[in-house]
Amino acid sequence: MIENPIISDRHPIRQGEPHVIGYCEGCGGEIVEGESIIEFLDGLMIHYDRYCAMAFCLEAGKEKTAGWDD
Ligand SMILES: [Zn+2]
Repeated sequence: MIENPIISDRHPIRQGEPHVIGYCEGCGGEIVEGESIIEFLDGLMIHYDRYCAMAFCLEAGKEKTAGWDD
């Protein structure tokens, strides 16, 4: 579920302090409220970024040779 950034106005957080909602499974960096992300069914999140998407695929996927059974 993606949080509506408008709701953040109600959070009692100090001005200028980003509200970290999780960590990117691609680059490992913080995901702060209001950022564009891609969320997966099991709750994993990555930044909406080519680098993060690629890093996540390489990390989460299993390398194999196409057409070969191992
Ligand atoms: Zn990232």
